[in-house]
Amino acid sequence: MQARAGLMRAAEILGGADLARLQAAQARVSPHVRCTPMVRSQALTARQGAEVWLKFEHHQDTGAFKLRGATHALACLAPEALARGVVTASTGNHGRALALAAQRLGAHATVCMSDLVPENKVQAVRELGAEVAIVGHSQDDAQVQAREWVASRGLTYVPPFDHPDVILGQATLGLEVVAQCPEVATVVVPLSGGGLAAGVALAVKTLRPRARVIGVSMVKGAAMAASLEFGRPVDVLEQPTLADSLGGGIGLDNRYSFALVQALVDEVVLLDEAAIARGMVHVHRHQHEVVEGAAAVGVAAVLEGRLQSAAPGPMVLLLTGRNVDPRVHRDLVARAVEEDA
Ligand SMILES: *Cc1c(COP(=O)(O)O)cnc(C)c1O
Repeated sequence: MQARAGLMRAAEILGGADLARLQAAQARVSPHVRCTPMVRSQALTARQGAEVWLKFEHHQDTGAFKLRGATHALACLAPEALARGVVTASTGNHGRALALAAQRLGAHATVCMSDLVPENKVQAVRELGAEVAIVGHSQDDAQVQAREWVASRGLTYVPPFDHPDVILGQATLGLEVVAQCPEVATVVVPLSGGGLAAGVALAVKTLRPRARVIGVSMVKGAAMAASLEFGRPVDVLEQPTLADSLGGGIGLDNRYSFALVQALVDEVVLLDEAAIARGMVHVHRHQHEVVEGAAAVGVAAVLEGRLQSAAPGPMVLLLTGRNVDPRVHRDLVARAVEEDA
């Protein structure tokens, strides 16, 4: 879709999405989230044949960008709703984000998890100040419990991506990208439920209508890519992947993020596991940074030569998170060293 048509569609979906609304979101979240650094990558610039910049959003508090969306969703709640408390059922970066956002905004957060979730993940959320409710034996059971507490206790459910206030919170990352790289021509965004891609694309295209936004997912279980292909939200089989933060469905009842990604994201690239591993190892070698698989997909796409359709001019890759099992990361780096020897 042409940028202008896409932006008009986005405004329809969100009930208004002009620059003033994006700036209001930024004003709400900026006291509570970090403005993360952006650095130029010499090695990737040489590969791509265009300036490549890395947005170090894995330096965000909680180790992932999701703090932006969760913080904005809470900042938009009425004081009475905030006082009753918030709930979600995420075991990953969204659960951590909601925990810390609630702590910072003085709300009580409950994060529902099944008894299969490893103790370190439970502990991470508790340390950020949330109550963890262990319920049932699957993520679905945890989800059902969270919804039940919305009905019985008046808690507010905060979803990981499919909510206008969450999406506008993630959009603040796009505003930062343009502020730090005003000439930006292409933004490369890890893509799962699409809250990040929708928000970033909205902000970047509002300020730079000619910029191109490319989403990247893993081949294994890319629900958004399959849904775009079908023209409506569909389920795909969830499979283990190094990019575990990109797993999971987009919801068959998706209301916002699917339509926004359809309107604003220009292209989706899919990568196999070996490519994602090489992306993680590259970031470690060249930047001395630990990022999770989901965050390395943009780097991997450059290394694979998959971004030939980028617009001429500087490219920005979003390194979205660092919450990887340290043993998994260490083994990947060790194996890469052996392969070079
Ligand atoms: C959630 C997440 C994504 C994808 O964000 P969506 O809004 O679900 O598309 C990318 N990277 C990391 C590290 C994440 O935690």
